[in-house]
Amino acid sequence: MTSFLSTDLIIEITYLVATALFILSLKWMSSPTTARHGVWAGELGMLLAVAGTLLNRGIVDYKWVAIALVLGTIIGVPLGKVQMTAVPQRTALSHAFGALCVTLVGTAEFYLRAPNVPRFMMSVLSMEVILGSLTFTGSLMAAGKLQEILPQRPITYKGQNIVNLGMLAASVGVAAYLVMHPDHLYLFPIILVIPLLFGVMMIVPIGGADMPTVISLLNSYAGLSAAAMGFVLDSKLLIVAGALDGASGLILSVNMSKAMNRSFSNVLFGAFGQEQVAVKGGQETRAVRSATPEEAAGILAAASKVVIVPGYGMAVAQAQHKVRELYDNLTKRGVDVKFGIHPVAGRMPGHMNVLLAEADIPYDKLLDMDEINGEFPQTDVALIIGANDVTNPAARTDSSSPIFGMPILDVDKARTVMVIKRSMGTGFAGIDNPLYYLDKTLMLFGDAKNFVGAIVRELSGGDGHG
Ligand code: NDP
Repeated sequence: MTSFLSTDLIIEITYLVATALFILSLKWMSSPTTARHGVWAGELGMLLAVAGTLLNRGIVDYKWVAIALVLGTIIGVPLGKVQMTAVPQRTALSHAFGALCVTLVGTAEFYLRAPNVPRFMMSVLSMEVILGSLTFTGSLMAAGKLQEILPQRPITYKGQNIVNLGMLAASVGVAAYLVMHPDHLYLFPIILVIPLLFGVMMIVPIGGADMPTVISLLNSYAGLSAAAMGFVLDSKLLIVAGALDGASGLILSVNMSKAMNRSFSNVLFGAFGQEQVAVKGGQETRAVRSATPEEAAGILAAASKVVIVPGYGMAVAQAQHKVRELYDNLTKRGVDVKFGIHPVAGRMPGHMNVLLAEADIPYDKLLDMDEINGEFPQTDVALIIGANDVTNPAARTDSSSPIFGMPILDVDKARTVMVIKRSMGTGFAGIDNPLYYLDKTLMLFGDAKNFVGAIVRELSGGDGHG
């Protein structure tokens, strides 16, 4: 019995179950109905992976493990409590920590094994350390830009791409030399330091608006470096988990780029947002029509079909519960209410779906851009709540616009457009929105939560008359 259930076998079984849970987690997270199971499966998988590792007989002293667990908990608990709008930078910080860990383990493994490092081992070790280092500094930079600790605007100079690619090529070249001559120990710090520098320089020319896509790409790099570490440490769990992370991060970045109609190279080297048409709130002089909550309530009550388009402002205002009340009120009156969800509305993929699900809005009322766009011509009111760029018709018509070609929600095809936002201020791309100047558009100036709340109060007070 003891030999049948040896510690090694228990570890292997624990890792196998953890691997299966990671795969199921990703599968379940692809639909809102199963997403919660996905999160639990991921958490359980991670718990099993940590527990299995703690059984490892290679651990000679649990004191350091305990210290690391306490430190990790002290850092991790507050990180888990950030506002949802800050999740992209929080995710970037997690990647930075993961990548730092991978880099340190790779460095330790090299010096433990050198000078006799077999070629395959040296190749994966180099890959681990290069990807780990550049992901570490790149993720810190991305988090800093998103948190606005660092300037969001892209900073460029002549020959920048050549300098950056040159740094990457130099590290790969030195790594290739080390694969052939691992006894040249003095070269190892080069494949640590240059990628650390490259991580910083890679992010400098990328604007804040592209950071979520870049973070997703860094997620992919972190996954690949973890998979490389799996080869170094001979851990199948790490290889599978790293590959899942690497592949899902890449797929997500590709999908996000597609939703913004951008190519990867344009995201990485395009310096998007550098020459923005700076139209800040208050500077625009063209006239717009505005309306009060009472007027907006009257228009909504008289409509038979309403499409609500949420955006980043709804998330900032935490207006989703008020939006649910509005949905309930209008639905009770017999108004057909649907939600049009743009794939990059908000600041991370699925941002709007998560918020609306939290407010218990039925999933079947949330329609993707491709599904809802055909319905706008038959829609009485398109009610935009804190969205801007994803409704900007300039993306369709103005070839000089930085967002030209980005697929948008065709709200301007509805009979009436109502836009809740606080001012004439721009959205993430920093550009003006011609939608606001159309004759059919009414601006509802105010905080999304307060304004929707005021409409609901008008509608409730108006019950029986309307
Ligand atoms: P935008 O950032 O374009 O616009 C949000 C609008 O919300 C602003 O114009 C702001 O106007 C308004 N707002 C802010 N706070 C409030 C508030 N409290 N109450 C009411 N309104 C408020 O958001 P969108 O969702 O339309 O577009 C997302 C942008 O982010 C796109 O440019 C997209 O490409 C980009 N992006 C998104 C990613 C994703 O994964 N989701 C990834 C990468 C980029 P005002 O200040 O006047 O109130």
